[in-house]
Amino acid sequence: MEQPQRTTRISVLLPYKFGMVFTYEAGAALPPGTLVRVPLGRRAVAGVVWDDPPDPDVKTRPVTEVLDFPAMPETLRKFIDWVAGYTLAARGDVLALSLKEKLLAPPPKRARTYAFGGADPARPGPALSVMQEEAAAKLRADMRAGDFSVTLLDGVTGSGKTEVYLEAVAEALRCQKQVLVLLPEIALSVQMLSRFQARFGVRPAVWHSELTPARRRETYRAVAEGRADVVVGARSALFLPFAALGLIVVDEEHETSFKQEDGVIYNARDMAVVRAKLCAAPVLLVSATPSLETAENAAQGRYKKLDLPARHGGATLPRVEALDLREAPPERGKFLSPLLLAAMRETLARGEQAMLFLNRRGYAPLTLCRTCGHRLSCPNCSAWLVEHKSSPRLSCHHCGYTMQRPLHCPSCEAEGSFVPIGPGVERIAEEVAEEFSGIEALVMASDVISGPAQAEEAARRIAEREVGIIIGTQMVAKGWHFPHLTLVGVVDADLGLAGGDLRASEHTVQMLHQVAGRAGRAEAPGRVLLQSYDPSHPVIQALLSGDLPAFLEQEAALRRPGHWPPFGRLAALIVSAEDERLADRIARELARTAPREPGVEVLGPAPAPIALLRGRHRRRLLLKTQREIAVQPLLRDWLGRVPIPRNVKLDVDVDPVSFM
Ligand code: ADP
Ligand code: ZN
Repeated sequence: MEQPQRTTRISVLLPYKFGMVFTYEAGAALPPGTLVRVPLGRRAVAGVVWDDPPDPDVKTRPVTEVLDFPAMPETLRKFIDWVAGYTLAARGDVLALSLKEKLLAPPPKRARTYAFGGADPARPGPALSVMQEEAAAKLRADMRAGDFSVTLLDGVTGSGKTEVYLEAVAEALRCQKQVLVLLPEIALSVQMLSRFQARFGVRPAVWHSELTPARRRETYRAVAEGRADVVVGARSALFLPFAALGLIVVDEEHETSFKQEDGVIYNARDMAVVRAKLCAAPVLLVSATPSLETAENAAQGRYKKLDLPARHGGATLPRVEALDLREAPPERGKFLSPLLLAAMRETLARGEQAMLFLNRRGYAPLTLCRTCGHRLSCPNCSAWLVEHKSSPRLSCHHCGYTMQRPLHCPSCEAEGSFVPIGPGVERIAEEVAEEFSGIEALVMASDVISGPAQAEEAARRIAEREVGIIIGTQMVAKGWHFPHLTLVGVVDADLGLAGGDLRASEHTVQMLHQVAGRAGRAEAPGRVLLQSYDPSHPVIQALLSGDLPAFLEQEAALRRPGHWPPFGRLAALIVSAEDERLADRIARELARTAPREPGVEVLGPAPAPIALLRGRHRRRLLLKTQREIAVQPLLRDWLGRVPIPRNVKLDVDVDPVSFM
């Protein structure tokens, strides 16, 4: 007679590149979500008991260990399956965003030095204006309803959007729910963290790539155990195992940095909406410059919309003017127009601060030989090498390759003939130093200010007026509140329009409008000067008028007829290989087998704008469909028809933001 079976089969999803679950044997039925350690080859690895039915036939090995960690909630398991289905990533790769072996180690008791939780919603916030209170009341009501809803909180820079969403956070805390606030560049958001602390009495838990391993482990556990009540994080925080997630806020929802561009390619803004839906929780999308996607969702009534049309406390929006560089050009070899320099002098004379914005790191974006025109480029990437003042070497911003500035031109052998072309922020700093001796200038770029400590120090120096002039890249566009800053000069307002990708105009308007919004946030009025060779361009005109809804309508009118997003769907395929002919062959094979049906179009293959990246040749194809057509089934069919050799990489980017 057969022995009765004492063990039971379970499915386990592992945080590695597998799409499928594995079947193991457990001594007792383990409910889905249980964290276990199981054998994989000769190793034992952590995984999660998953909801798929176990395979009744395969040979199984026993679970090694049941881990002492809260089970992964069903809402997160469903989210992981959903993200994998949408992005076409392997489920294991998506799980790896949520679960890492090294996060599970129980922290030694004595290492628990950080407290979590304790945010106090009863502490009073500022007295809200009538308009702010109206918006806050709606958000509180949504919170109490405890149901899924999406709200766009659209308000001009300085209108108090943050104060208003902190009221929604307070309501979530009163409802005993956890809150997730997603921010771009969280590591640098020191001012934001101070505001949370001022409002709720404690610092929120933070989640970003700069945390120490011990801090990561503790935070992860505190989130899973429900002790961390407010988490402020980068996009990856969306995958944390919240015990009771009740509200998600996506601040600066238009920011492209919410898009993860490698590994699992996903847009944290869009996935936040999905996660909130699965948790039956409200989600707030916050911006002074909403993306066309979100604006269109609001216009169609899919999202609710709350407006804060005026700055708080009577502060006015800055006056924006174009400065026509054809009429008032900079001196030869310089980049700042005499009119901008004069405005800066006036500002400084009043004891106020000025900011110059240029979204280019380093000293010069290009170095060329003045004898033969040879340009110094990266051997691994289609990119120019960038000169930085801090180092005698030129570097590639894509792959990190560096080289000594050569004495002789490698092409014509001329000696000492290399000249920098065009400005980066460091070259602007040099010009500022020449023009404004005795005035302290501060460069804010990611290579100079790369962590919370440096950001905090920079914010302090600016607040205490140790600095007169700030020179920054896109880093300065986000969230900062500098009360003494009244003048913003945009060094090159035309930059970013040349590339001609789908959203070039939209992104330029958003970024420059955000930068402009740094000016005049307190009593003194702000002024913004846009240096441009083409002031009649619709982007410059939109910035001058400040009428962003009208600009978005123009954009919509351009995109609607061709079914470009958000009026249609896109997915990009990027084929890359070290062997250029192989990349070409696979790209052509994909084109040959592309889906052909009404409402579906395939563009390409074409060399990617960055045709060579880290030594790999890249080709792109673009699948474009009408909005009613889901791209995932098409993609699955299509990719199933083309075998991809091991030495070729195929990235699928659903809803691409970057076209590089
Ligand atoms: P936004 O997020 O829309 O840019 P903020 O919430 O940062 O605006 O508000 C801009 C500034 O005005 C901040 O310093 C903020 O503390 C202040 N502020 C906004 N609303 C109020 C209010 N009701 N009472 C006092 N200060 C406020
Ligand atoms: Zn490179």
